[in-house]
Amino acid sequence: MSSQKVILVTIDGLRPDAFLTCGHPMVDYVRKNASYTVKGSSVLPPVTLPAHLSIFYSVPPQRHGTLTNTYTPPVRPIDGLFEHIRHAGKTTAIFYGWEQMRDVSRPGSMTYAEYVKSKVLENADTYLTDRALLCIREHEPDFVFLYLVDVDECGHRDGWMTESYFNRVRIALDNLKRVLDACGDQYTVIVSADHGGHERTHGENIPEDMTIPMFFFGEMFEPGKEPEGLSLLDIAPTVAKAMGIPADPDWEGKSVF
Ligand SMILES: [Zn+2]
Repeated sequence: MSSQKVILVTIDGLRPDAFLTCGHPMVDYVRKNASYTVKGSSVLPPVTLPAHLSIFYSVPPQRHGTLTNTYTPPVRPIDGLFEHIRHAGKTTAIFYGWEQMRDVSRPGSMTYAEYVKSKVLENADTYLTDRALLCIREHEPDFVFLYLVDVDECGHRDGWMTESYFNRVRIALDNLKRVLDACGDQYTVIVSADHGGHERTHGENIPEDMTIPMFFFGEMFEPGKEPEGLSLLDIAPTVAKAMGIPADPDWEGKSVF
């Protein structure tokens, strides 16, 4: 069983068609170096906190119970990815620009955590990436979650697929490239959006909101392979397997490898 260190990057509100047409060198880089899909599925509703809880608990929102961006404690609690990593005696870190993201784990499951309110910074994603890279250099946590928020906030402000939205997508990909350049040898790197968007919103059961890109960089993933049928629920089992930690019996997704 492998026991890799893993970095999970979520790019909030990144549509796969925006990724494919944004003109950033990461498009070719992903095709050559990652297993990837541009046809992954979000969850219903495709909304940030429900989707991220589905990432970390590997169950749909109907099961974890948070159906809006207000956290609702589950009726039947399950252990999520952060809890299992901590139970295994490993260290975790989270860097996030949106306060509600603290609820992706139960209190006490994070070794390192840094929150900055995104709206007070011109470029929260770049700041948070800097902070994550510094923490990785100093502490080498076993699992790092870097949450990039600027693409989604731009979508809500200016509209999805607008010029400024594409600019934010390219900045997010610059930051992703910095993570891969600095840590790609030492860490398995998994990247996903949580949902897409249309006009200035998201949350509906339509392809623009539901379809997401997912990238998997690491020795266990075949470069250029495009796995079918992936959803957000598959991320926690994939991270756990890469780290040599058993998946929780309540998790509904399955490992990508
Ligand atoms: Zn979101």
